[in-house]
Amino acid sequence: MEIVLVGAPGSGGRVVGQLLAERHGGQFVDLSGTPDRSADRLSGLRRAGEPDTGPALRRIIAADRVLADPGVRARLYRSRRVIWLDVPVDRLLERLRAASPRSREIDGGVDLRLADHLADFTPYYFAGSRVDATGSIAETIATIESLMAKPAESGTLILRADIHGGLLELGEGILARSLDHVVGRLSARRCVVVTTARHRVRADGVASEVRDRSGLPVDVLELPEGEPAKRLVEQERLLQSLARLRLERGDPLIAVGDDVLLEAVTFAAAVYLRGVPFVTVPVTTLGLIDTSIGGKGGVDLPGVGRNLLGAIHQPVASILDIDMARDEPVEERHAALAEAIKYGLIGDDALLALLETSPPGDGQGPWPGPSELLEIVERCALAKRRLVLADERDTTGVRMALNLGHTLSHALEAATGYRLRHGEAVAYGLRAALWIGHAIGVTPAPIENRAERLLRRLELATAPLDVSVDDVLTYVDLDKKRLGGRLRWVLVGIEGVTVRDDVPETTVRAAVARALAGTAT
Ligand SMILES: [Zn+2]
Repeated sequence: MEIVLVGAPGSGGRVVGQLLAERHGGQFVDLSGTPDRSADRLSGLRRAGEPDTGPALRRIIAADRVLADPGVRARLYRSRRVIWLDVPVDRLLERLRAASPRSREIDGGVDLRLADHLADFTPYYFAGSRVDATGSIAETIATIESLMAKPAESGTLILRADIHGGLLELGEGILARSLDHVVGRLSARRCVVVTTARHRVRADGVASEVRDRSGLPVDVLELPEGEPAKRLVEQERLLQSLARLRLERGDPLIAVGDDVLLEAVTFAAAVYLRGVPFVTVPVTTLGLIDTSIGGKGGVDLPGVGRNLLGAIHQPVASILDIDMARDEPVEERHAALAEAIKYGLIGDDALLALLETSPPGDGQGPWPGPSELLEIVERCALAKRRLVLADERDTTGVRMALNLGHTLSHALEAATGYRLRHGEAVAYGLRAALWIGHAIGVTPAPIENRAERLLRRLELATAPLDVSVDDVLTYVDLDKKRLGGRLRWVLVGIEGVTVRDDVPETTVRAAVARALAGTAT
């Protein structure tokens, strides 16, 4: 067994870790005060830290400030037991003052820094088993030893962020414990799981976990595969079933499926009884990094357009378990990475850097592997959460940033008769937006070149598309009419994204032609 002790500065990880290592004959590694990404030490640990489920303590790692970085957490937590040493702020301050009397001079500063630190990082600490560490060292050690004697919870939880916009749980193999935690917080009398035939096995697994752990009655309902799930007639059928099952205001819908299913269930949850709680359990990479966050529900009007009816209704929880997407076709996962590039360009340089390291080339299996995928999902999900919460009703324009690459992608999907995967269409759309941005002096050449290299590296938007510029522009025009006549392009500037509605038609035509040509140009 390997243990990671996490906690705020002053929570005692170093002393507790050292003593535990001595008592049990394990190795002690001190990462306290180490800056994020002290890569040499961490990568050394990763190699050595192969799964070790034996009862004996092999290694104990104390960490405090390294935990904001999802990549560090993903590597450090996998196949280890994570214990959060919980100490209230006032006790932490007492300890810090006693340890370093000189800090009294900058008292207010220490208070503030520590309060900031805790406010920023508490969501990350929640991922571990919580141990009360306010008592003596001996008491803390005794509590940890009693935990060590119990079987470990399965899977690796790297994020449990209980913030406005729904609880976010992220990890690998965490489904059972997350469902337990999520459903336990609701005052539900029954649950309904909604899925499609393709993901029925996963959904039945979810249903029996909830049934076993909570004892609540659980039913599983199906919507059709793909876009038909978003027809009004299918929605009516689903809503009728919910009424027959007498689902009430506090009873949750649990959506288990791909991005289309999540949008369809979001809509149903928003309108049934004017809103019931719902939980998203995505089973695709696109769902993990994008669709399960933000609360956008959509329904189509056949013959008129997609998502013309909609509702914004935030999930009570999103369970982002990368294991749920393990059977996803490689191309599907790959296409979804276009959305990750989007989040990188919106303002996460570390995410772009991570995507640029792909594939590792060390023959360790397909890229991204679990650690990288966990990091990608957390970075995208938290970025989306930030943008969505800054503009929850989609009115101030902040949320527009999420449409980077999407002005063209919707038109491309329609023009190709929905043969293109959403992520693939976004990749072509990103290329067009970057080219337009460069052409009208918004996007600096180094940014455009970097993104273009990344698209090629991930083999996105490489094939030429067999549709005409005019066809695509017809669909772009339909979108424009919906938006009141002005076509808005989200472009990448030096200071982040900007929205422009004055792009000349000739520039748009040239950009679309270039995007459609793939990498042949
Ligand atoms: Zn998208």
